[in-house]
Amino acid sequence: MSRDRGDGTDWVSATPFLAAHLAPFAAIWVSVTWTDWALFAALYVVRMFFVTAGYHRYFSHRSFKAGRVTQFVLAVGATTAVQKGPLWWAGHHRLHHRFTDRDGDVHSPRDGFWWSHVGWILSRRTKRTELDAVRDFAAVPELRLLDRFHLVPPLLLAAGCWVVGGPGGLLVGFFGSTVLLWHATFAINSLAHLVGRRRFATADTSRNSWPLALATGGEGWHNNHHYLPSSARQGLAWWEVDTTWYVLRLLAALHIVGELRRPPARLLDQARVRDGAFDIGMFRSYWERAARLAGERLGDATGRPVADVTDANRGTGWVRAAERAEVDGAAGPPLSWLITRALESADQLARSTRQGRLGSLPTTAPTEQR
Ligand SMILES: [Zn+2]
Ligand SMILES: [Zn+2]
Repeated sequence: MSRDRGDGTDWVSATPFLAAHLAPFAAIWVSVTWTDWALFAALYVVRMFFVTAGYHRYFSHRSFKAGRVTQFVLAVGATTAVQKGPLWWAGHHRLHHRFTDRDGDVHSPRDGFWWSHVGWILSRRTKRTELDAVRDFAAVPELRLLDRFHLVPPLLLAAGCWVVGGPGGLLVGFFGSTVLLWHATFAINSLAHLVGRRRFATADTSRNSWPLALATGGEGWHNNHHYLPSSARQGLAWWEVDTTWYVLRLLAALHIVGELRRPPARLLDQARVRDGAFDIGMFRSYWERAARLAGERLGDATGRPVADVTDANRGTGWVRAAERAEVDGAAGPPLSWLITRALESADQLARSTRQGRLGSLPTTAPTEQR
C-alpha cells in the first residue's frame, strides 16, 4: 500500500493525537510529585507489556494460548495504551507480515520514514479494521465490542490518574507515558526496519536493535521476529533481553497462559547472513531504491520501478502490462522489467541459501547449484 495512492490525513483523529503530545508540557504550570512520576513509569512498563504480549504476540501471531478471560484481560490492558482496538491492531499487523516491505505493507519505510512511523496511523485509509485478516478473533463478540469502544478503557485510566495524582497525574502519569509508549511502539515499524543488524536473511529489511529491544520489552529483536513470527520468544540469544518473554514464562508457570511457541532449534542455525545466506531483503531494498531513481530519470514507461516477484504476485498487475508491452513490440522491455527479472533470480538464490541447500559455498556461482 504505497501512500501516494492513498487518502490524506484524517484530521478528526490527528488533532487529539497531536494535542496529546502537548499535554505533558502543560505540566510546567502544575505541581508534579513523585507519585506522578511513579505513575508515569508504571504505566509505561505495564502497558508496554500488554501491547507486546497482547496485541502483538497473542492477537497478531497467536504465539501462545490463553483462555477467554485471560484473552479479554490482555485486550483490555492493551487498549489502555490508546493504540486502537485489538482487531484493528492485529489486522494491520498481520498485513505487515504478509507483505513486508512490498505493496500491501501498511507501514513500510520504503514509503518514507514518517509514513512508517505515524503517517499510516493518521491516514484515512487505515481507519477501518481489516476484519478479513483477523477472522479468528473477529468471531469473538466481546473483542468486537471492545474494538468498537476501544477508547473507554483509556478514558477510565486517565480519570483514575486524575484521582490518584490530580493534574500532575493526568499530564505526566497518563499523557507523558502514553506519548512515549506510542513512539516506542511506532519505532518498531519505522526504525526497526532501518537501523540495527540483520542475523537472518529474511525477505524484508527488519533489524535487531538492543536500544529498541530495551525500550519495548523485547520487540527490538525485529529481524529475529520477522524470521520466526510465531515464536513467543523474540530475543533468541541469552543476552538478547526480552522482558515480555520472561513475564510470559512466569505467567505460563502460573498456568495463566500456556503453550508458549518456540522455534525449532534447526531453524536457528539456518538462513544466517553470517553463514553466507543471500540477503535478499537488503538486496531488494537497494535495488528498489536504485530502480526508482533510474525510473524517474529515464521516464520509465510503466511508471512503476519494481514489481513484486513473489509467487503470489507473479503474472499480475504491471508485470503483465510489461509482458504485453514486450509482445506488442512496444519500445522494448522497460528497465523495470529487466530489474524484475534480476530480482526473480535473486529470490531463487535467496530461497536456496536460506534453506542451507548451498551449504557453505556463498562463493559459488548460482548457476552451479542443483
Ligand atoms: Zn516489521
Ligand atoms: Zn509481528
